[in-house]
Amino acid sequence: MERRNAWLSYTEAEEKELEKVAKEYRNFLDVGKTERECVTQIIKEAQEAGYECLEEKAAKGEKLKAGDKVYTVGMKKIVALFHIGQDDIAEGMNILGAHIDSPRLDIKQNPLYEDTDLAYLDTHYYGGVKKYQWVTLPLAMHGVVAKKDGSIVEISIGEDAEDPVLYITDLLIHLSGKQLQKKAAEVIEGEMLDILIGSRPLAELPDDSKKDAVKQNVLKILNEKYGIEEEDFLSAELEIVPAGKARDCGLDRSMIAAYGQDDRVCAYTSLAAMLEMEETPKRTGCCLLVDKEEIGSVGATGMQSRFFENSVAELLDGMGCYSELALRRALRNSSMLSSDVSAGYDPAYGEAFEKKNAAYLGRGIVLNKFTGARGKSGSNDANAEYVARVRRIFDDHNVAFQTAELGKVDFGGGGTIAYIAALYGMEVIDSGVAVLSMHAPWEVTSKADVYEAYKAYKAFLLDA
Ligand code: MN
Ligand code: MN
Repeated sequence: MERRNAWLSYTEAEEKELEKVAKEYRNFLDVGKTERECVTQIIKEAQEAGYECLEEKAAKGEKLKAGDKVYTVGMKKIVALFHIGQDDIAEGMNILGAHIDSPRLDIKQNPLYEDTDLAYLDTHYYGGVKKYQWVTLPLAMHGVVAKKDGSIVEISIGEDAEDPVLYITDLLIHLSGKQLQKKAAEVIEGEMLDILIGSRPLAELPDDSKKDAVKQNVLKILNEKYGIEEEDFLSAELEIVPAGKARDCGLDRSMIAAYGQDDRVCAYTSLAAMLEMEETPKRTGCCLLVDKEEIGSVGATGMQSRFFENSVAELLDGMGCYSELALRRALRNSSMLSSDVSAGYDPAYGEAFEKKNAAYLGRGIVLNKFTGARGKSGSNDANAEYVARVRRIFDDHNVAFQTAELGKVDFGGGGTIAYIAALYGMEVIDSGVAVLSMHAPWEVTSKADVYEAYKAYKAFLLDA
């Protein structure tokens, strides 16, 4: 039961549209390298598409009605968009969900130190990473510093061609005999992921601070450029990510190589489908883009928080139909595509996959009936009836899709946000785009799969 390669089916017009989606997706990756930057860009694109802030409308006492488009944001890191449909919302919504946080290195709260005339920032990695992949790369720093006076300093260093980049060293091969005997998990350990940020000492320091002259110089630059002091790191969220823009990959330009495609590839395509829905839908459409998936969907901006439930409650209130029961019905009667990346079959590591149930680059959006590990543990396991409904929608709209599991049984596994949304009793299935080298600094996707995901989300919003 092999699925056809989507590239073989495209007309010239479709190829043009595919390239347009891919280009806009690459732009989204370039401007959104952190969850905060993603939310900023999502709000910008939503406003351009006619979406308004839910809280602002409520404050003005404006009632919500069919056809209205609203968004709501939590702590600048999680966002929900709604396009109110004609049907009673208690009959449910069509929901597209994905996450906008990605694996990276976070700067510690007390990070700055100097050792032997070199200055470093200490980090704590976020999400699952192969630590040895993060050394000897040009790195950028993105994030915010919140100052005691209430002001926020936004920082982005390493993306402009003229910007300096940051760096993590590795031991030269000539002296690595002993290091190379270690297990891959131990070759580079967590505490070795320190960011090299300076080597030039500040001149004319008093004797007692001379030993930290390189660190003092870094602090001077930070103060001059950003008005921050060493103590301000205490209340900062600074993320170290690979420097540079998303690129076309392959001589045939069929792929995209970029940082953060898990899960911005699903987040962006879900958003694009949502924003392009111009006419008032029958069922209310929703796009929910969450933070903290990579560390277990925890915290106020993760899927386990009440953000989504509270947002729907506010929506119902704005529509003048809030009741506890109406809220529960709206959630229970909803259908969701919970989108996250799938492991793309990689012939170089073929032994990790079971070929009949693997996701292949170029064969369309992937449906995962279940995810999880060790006997489906932690999985949502979508209802067979619902899987049939989603198949029908995709076939009706000519969407290329495939089904897969994450690797061979007992090789590992992974979780998503699907099981959390399913707690409301709604229909949920895991879906998404296949990725090569998932969680590496640079990940690879197929443009055809990006395009098919976008088509799938449009079809789902319309017909689920
Ligand atoms: Mn993911
Ligand atoms: Mn992930």
